[in-house]
Amino acid sequence: MKKEPVKIKERDKAARARDFAEVVQGFSEEEALREAARCIQCKEPKCTGGCPVGIDIKSFIGQITKKDYAGAYFTIRQKNNFPSICGRVCPAEYQCRKACVFTKKGSPFASNEAIGIHFLERFVGDFGAKEGLQVKAAKDDKLSGAKVAVVGSGPAGLCCAGELARRGIKIVVFEGLHKTGGVLRYGIPPFRLPRDILDLEIDSLKKLGVEFRANTIIGRVKLVDELFSEGFSAIFLGLGAGIPSFMGIPGENLCNIYSANEFLTRVNLMSAHKFPASHTPVNVGRHIVVIGGGNTAMDAARVAIRLQHMNGIAADTTIFYRRTETEMPARRLEIEHAKEEGVRFELLVKPEEFIGDEKGFVKSLRASRCKLGEADASGRRRPVVIPESSFTVDCDLAVVAIGLGANKILTSVTPQLVVDKYGDVTVDPETMETSIKGVFAGGDIVGGEGTVIEAMGMAKKAAAAIINFLDKKMA
Ligand code: FAD
Ligand code: SF4
Repeated sequence: MKKEPVKIKERDKAARARDFAEVVQGFSEEEALREAARCIQCKEPKCTGGCPVGIDIKSFIGQITKKDYAGAYFTIRQKNNFPSICGRVCPAEYQCRKACVFTKKGSPFASNEAIGIHFLERFVGDFGAKEGLQVKAAKDDKLSGAKVAVVGSGPAGLCCAGELARRGIKIVVFEGLHKTGGVLRYGIPPFRLPRDILDLEIDSLKKLGVEFRANTIIGRVKLVDELFSEGFSAIFLGLGAGIPSFMGIPGENLCNIYSANEFLTRVNLMSAHKFPASHTPVNVGRHIVVIGGGNTAMDAARVAIRLQHMNGIAADTTIFYRRTETEMPARRLEIEHAKEEGVRFELLVKPEEFIGDEKGFVKSLRASRCKLGEADASGRRRPVVIPESSFTVDCDLAVVAIGLGANKILTSVTPQLVVDKYGDVTVDPETMETSIKGVFAGGDIVGGEGTVIEAMGMAKKAAAAIINFLDKKMA
């Protein structure tokens, strides 16, 4: 008999659009047990193959059904250092859940919804954090004397640090910003990833002996060669894709037009929504336009509408996107949440020009309507402008969220490091080693914009290669 999927609870949409508290509530124990009981414990489970870090999903779900939550926690931690983070932000519908037998055509379970693997992972991760469960570092490993530098504290850097620290290797993570976490802290808003959860997972690395040095930009404060001279045997680069792209249309330099990175960083990292209690302000428009269709655009729009509510301004935030909702790269859940919270969507529209007032502030946006043409290189149908379809909307604040490129601070001063035409670091895909011996890389600086778990998958591969490299060096 088919068992009904357990629906995850979410906060009331009107209330949640007025603050930064978490929207999606976790499973209770009873709900987790009910959802875990739906898993049929396949003989040959497909779910693990869909997980970029290869979590033994069948086993940890089986342990939940036996109420062995600690066992489930350690099963996940064998492969993933950050279950509470991934359980919240992973696009599971494109990964493990997509591979689950419940989604496969021809399976007797196919008409039922895939197991809520990510919600169960979150339940177990939060249990482990609450109970203070901790993975221990190896004590008498022959690599324990080695020292490795990790540059960047986003998911790639954190994951690589965790993997190596478990072997007793001394890890120092250098982070350019004043706080650690990368996009997890400055990009993804707290209503999707509460900061106490992020802090707990980073603390678990500190307990493994990982040292963090914030406010240290490698490439400015010190160079890669200097790290080697200081005694680091290997270096991992997890620099991310922190440089925003713009459309290059007239008026894009007007005041009150932000890149999504700046807008989100001001709020998520610098707490601009608490100004003047915090030192960093952010402008809040009456008519806000967010341009783009990815996760970043959804986050920016959902932050924008919260700022309007919190400042007593009638909600008026609209996403402008060139294609239709089907082609939007954002997670379906984020699109639904944005809509529920009152964000409007203008689809099949192409911004043409920002128009400013006499003081140089944006006051409106001119755009054209589009239709979908032939598929382009990405496989998505290309937007084609409909002649004479131009229209103008009021817009006193715009956020451009159309993509991010490689952060070049370090690569531009490291000529031996080979990069591709986008500025991404070139690596051997088997080992993640760069053109410099002993320097490895992973995450968005290698593949361009990806996901948290993909960055972690690359970092794990690099960590395994670093261990191999150190092994040989010490032999
Ligand atoms: P980053 O997270 O960018 O971290 C890089 C770190 O390196 C930064 O802290 C940076 O300050 C530091 N750094 C860079 N250069 C130097 C230097 N020279 N010296 C010292 N430090 C340096 N993915 C998902 O899976 N789910 C989501 O819901 C999701 N939402 C997203 C929302 C937003 C707004 C954005 C921007 C991205 C989102 N992503 C999401 C994508 C995901 O966050 C990234 O793929 C992931 O963070 C990449 O990890 P990373 O470690 O490579 O880089
Ligand atoms: Fe359970 Fe789905 Fe994995 Fe099968 S594929 S073991 S049903 S989660």
